[in-house]
Amino acid sequence: MALIKCPVCHKRISSQASRCQHCQADLSGNTESLARISHIQQSNRLMNQSFLALTLFIAGVVIWFWGGEPAEGLRAYIAGGCFALGFVGYMITRVRIILHKRKSV
Ligand SMILES: [Zn+2]
Repeated sequence: MALIKCPVCHKRISSQASRCQHCQADLSGNTESLARISHIQQSNRLMNQSFLALTLFIAGVVIWFWGGEPAEGLRAYIAGGCFALGFVGYMITRVRIILHKRKSV
């Protein structure tokens, strides 16, 4: 008997269990393909998040340079906020993607 990760809730369960004892997920099917699907879904989620962060980052740059003049006052705050949030969000998501890819399915 070996310990495997539940493909749904990622908690450790027996490889011979037909049902996850934590989340009650049905494991009688092909657990390997279930795990793979869950892995791909998580990858997609991370890709969407990094895309969103990148959009925010670009939006910040666009707001900053809108009209060809340097941003001032409220516009500078909004642009700076989008820029910083997008940048930090993008970096965090990239790291999470790398860590996620290292995990074997
Ligand atoms: Zn589970």
